Amino acid sequence: MTDVIPDHATGLGKLSEGPEGLGLWEQTVRNPDAGEVVLEVISSGICGTDLHIADDEFPSDPPVTMGHEVTGEVVRLGDGVDASWTDRRVAVETYFSFCEQCEFCRSGLPNLCGKRRSIGSREDGGFTRWMTVPVRNLHKLPEHVGRYAGALAEPLACVANCLFDPPVVSAGDRVLVIGPGTMGLLTAQAARAAGGNVLLVGLERDQDRLDLAASLGLETLALESGGHLDIHPPDVVCECSGSEAGAVLGLDLIRKGGRYVQVGIFGRPVTIPLDAVLYKELTLTSGNASTPTSWRRAMRLIDERAVELDPLVSEVVPLTDWQRAFGATRSGVGMKYVLDPRPSENSSRADL
Ligand SMILES: [Zn+2]
Ligand SMILES: [Zn+2]
Repeated sequence: MTDVIPDHATGLGKLSEGPEGLGLWEQTVRNPDAGEVVLEVISSGICGTDLHIADDEFPSDPPVTMGHEVTGEVVRLGDGVDASWTDRRVAVETYFSFCEQCEFCRSGLPNLCGKRRSIGSREDGGFTRWMTVPVRNLHKLPEHVGRYAGALAEPLACVANCLFDPPVVSAGDRVLVIGPGTMGLLTAQAARAAGGNVLLVGLERDQDRLDLAASLGLETLALESGGHLDIHPPDVVCECSGSEAGAVLGLDLIRKGGRYVQVGIFGRPVTIPLDAVLYKELTLTSGNASTPTSWRRAMRLIDERAVELDPLVSEVVPLTDWQRAFGATRSGVGMKYVLDPRPSENSSRADL
C-alpha cells in the first residue's frame, strides 16, 4: 500500500491530433469522489485500439491519458466504498460514465450508450501510476493470475461479449479461429472452454504466435498467404484478424447454417462476399467492447483457469520506453506488451 499519492503523475497521453500527438505529460491525480477509488496501476496493456487512437482513427478527447486494459491495487477509498477493497488487486471495466437513461443503459448495455465515456480515450486511463475510477468497475483477480497479466481481463471480457451474448459455441462444435493475435488466443481458449473443438489458423509469418497457442494445448495450423485450407467445414468461425483475407477465408470455409462471429476490427471498409450469408443461411454476430455480463463471464473463465492470461504477456515495458512497445505492437512482433508505470528502479519485473 502506497501512502503518499502525489497531486500529479507522468502519463502517456493522446495530447493532440496528428502524428505527433502522443507523448508523456504531467496529469492531475484526482482524489476519489464518493463511490470511487484510487488505483496504483501495476500494468496496462497496449492494444490495437491504442494504435487507432494514435492514428486519429478512434475518437478521443485530448489531452487524455491512454490505457484501458488495466490491473492495479486499490490504494485509496472514496466515501461509501467498502473497506474490503483496500489493497485488493483488481482488473477494471472501461466505462467511466454513461447516461444511465437510454434504452441500452437500462438494458445493461453501457457499451452501446451514445454518451459513454471510456477510460483511455475520453477519461484518463491506465498509462500512468495512479488512476481514479468508480468502484463498480472493479473485479478482484485471483491469486493465480500473475502480477502483470490481469491487464488481459479486459480483452477477454470483449471476447466473452462476442462469444456468449448470444452464445455461438455449443459442446462438440467445430470452431475455426482465424488470426493468432491476443484476441485470437483468448477467443480460442474461451471457445474451447465452451466445449468447442477448436482450430486456430494463422499465416506462416505467425509461427511464433502459433507455437505459443500450441503450448496452451490448442490445435494450430499455418497457412501460406493466399493458400488453401482443406478442413471439414466449421460450425463456427471466429474472425479475429480484422483482415479482409481472414473474413473471406472464414465465409468460404464455414458450413451451411453456421455461425460467423466478427471479433477483429478492420478499421476501414473492406470487400467481403456477403452473399455467403444468404446462400449458406449463416448467422452473423459480433460484440462491441464489453458489458457487465461479459465481464462476469470473463472473470469466471479466469477463476477456473479455463483461460490462461500469463503466457500472453510478451514483455513488461517501463512507461518511459513506450515508443518501442508501441512499435512492436504495430509490427505484430510478440503478443501483448504491457506498460509498467512505476519508475524502473522500483519495478520488480522478475516476478512476471
Ligand atoms: Zn483494448
Ligand atoms: Zn445510455
